[in-house]
Amino acid sequence: MPASQGLAARLREIREVEQVLDHASELFPYESDGLTALRGRPAAVAFPTSTAAVAAIVRACNEAGVPFVARGAGTGLSGGATPVDGCVMIECSRMRRVLDIDAVNRTATVQPGLINAHLSEAVSALGLYYAPDPSSQSACTIGGNVAENSGGPHTLKYGTTSPHVLELEVVLPDGETVHLGRRDGHQVGFDLRGVFVGSEGTLGIVTAAVVRLLPLPEKTATLLASFRSLIDACRAVSDVVGRGIVPAALELLDDRTIDAVEASVYAAGYPRDARAVLLIELDGDAGSVDAERAEVEAICRDRAAVDVRVARDEAERQALWRGRKGAFGAMGRLAPDLYVHDAVVPRTRLPEVVEAINRAAESRGLQVANILHAGDGNVHPNLVFDRRDPGEVERIREVGAEILRICVDAGGMLSGEHGIGLEKRDYMHMVFDEADLEPMRWVHDTFDPGDLCNPGKQIPAPRACTESNPRHRGYDQVEF
Ligand SMILES: Cc1cc2nc3c(=O)[nH]c(=O)nc-3n(C[C@H](O)[C@H](O)[C@H](O)COP(=O)(O)OP(=O)(O)OC[C@H]3O[C@@H](n4cnc5c(N)ncnc54)[C@H](O)[C@@H]3O)c2cc1C
Repeated sequence: MPASQGLAARLREIREVEQVLDHASELFPYESDGLTALRGRPAAVAFPTSTAAVAAIVRACNEAGVPFVARGAGTGLSGGATPVDGCVMIECSRMRRVLDIDAVNRTATVQPGLINAHLSEAVSALGLYYAPDPSSQSACTIGGNVAENSGGPHTLKYGTTSPHVLELEVVLPDGETVHLGRRDGHQVGFDLRGVFVGSEGTLGIVTAAVVRLLPLPEKTATLLASFRSLIDACRAVSDVVGRGIVPAALELLDDRTIDAVEASVYAAGYPRDARAVLLIELDGDAGSVDAERAEVEAICRDRAAVDVRVARDEAERQALWRGRKGAFGAMGRLAPDLYVHDAVVPRTRLPEVVEAINRAAESRGLQVANILHAGDGNVHPNLVFDRRDPGEVERIREVGAEILRICVDAGGMLSGEHGIGLEKRDYMHMVFDEADLEPMRWVHDTFDPGDLCNPGKQIPAPRACTESNPRHRGYDQVEF
């Protein structure tokens, strides 16, 4: 009899669990996150509305010996929220309230299922905003952002999620509720808040977060620079940062991406004859923004930009960003399937890395469309394909691995922001040796000795172990 037998009925009895799904047809949407190539079958999906309900679900799973996996909006792209077969998914989307706004101390306390963009909307009338802005911000949740330490276009100046998280309320894998960090930022002892951020749902479940808010900048200028050469655009990126200018965002889109965006509902007026565009945003006090704008324009022209346009008003600025933030969605026009890759390299290596990635894809007859958080050296080569062609799936797998090798050899890392999840778990050996990985396993096993909390993600089993290693249960077939 499966361990999960009868568990759904038990979960339905927990107060403040609003709904429990356990019919096969209801469970289908929960079989994967945004990385649809990897799938699992949960036994049930529970929708708690309070911390106490999350803790009760976790305790029930412990008693039944059933694994559990937290889920926000399921927009993750590395298989972090892929269910392990027979697990309970703890779906946080009904825990979406802003619990408190402290305008004086510039903090907000929110539930984990709050959609990222809704936080800035909630505090904008106070002249405040929440800086981390993944391109998926209209859907992804604060809980998912904390688990992935998500970045976004504005990471270049403001950092990823971690520096914006002050305190976390967490249900640990044994059902105990604890607080990590402090809302006033005066942390002493081990920084367990820092350990938790980026742990991809493997150390417990966030049930509330105290986050930093920032004052809205006095002035923002958004520029679109068009280039006839992708390499010139990459070089302009290094020139801007090398001059000591830190734009709020410095994004690059190549010609295939421009075509996809301009043919879609996200059309932003990007020039279709450009080989690449840079979307550059400067913010701060009016004087420095004006001075930096002039300097950035000059740098781009020195790198042979054919045009540099400045958004004249907020509507034009929003249109330019709509194109960038809708770019992944727009790629649905190119082919039935999309593999969004993510890696990071030193910014100065971008020209050769992007060329090598394009060669690796094109030599296998694959199309790649590049979007870069270029200021951070974060590359997103997007590989479009058709999964009905098994040869094409195999070539995608091969080129995915080669892209990681190219980036690591250039001094880079396996992920810039999408996390390791299942997708890159087994590539961790590419950059970490066993001695580096072992302390990660200690930390994991201290929080979750029973290995029930989102098992099998992020940390690979020791190389000496066989495929049947329990750390990899349910996911021996990692496709990408
Ligand atoms: C179009 C598109 C654009 C994207 N752009 C960006 C980008 O610019 N920057 C970026 O960093 N990412 C980006 N992503 C990836 C993704 O949106 C982020 O990783 C995001 O943080 C995931 O949030 P989510 O709520 O969807 O989490 P999910 O996908 O549901 O889960 C992600 C991970 O978080 C864990 N988790 C979820 N909730 C909790 C919780 N309450 N407690 C503990 N663990 C939890 C899950 O177990 C899983 O491991 C993009 C994705 C898409 C589809």
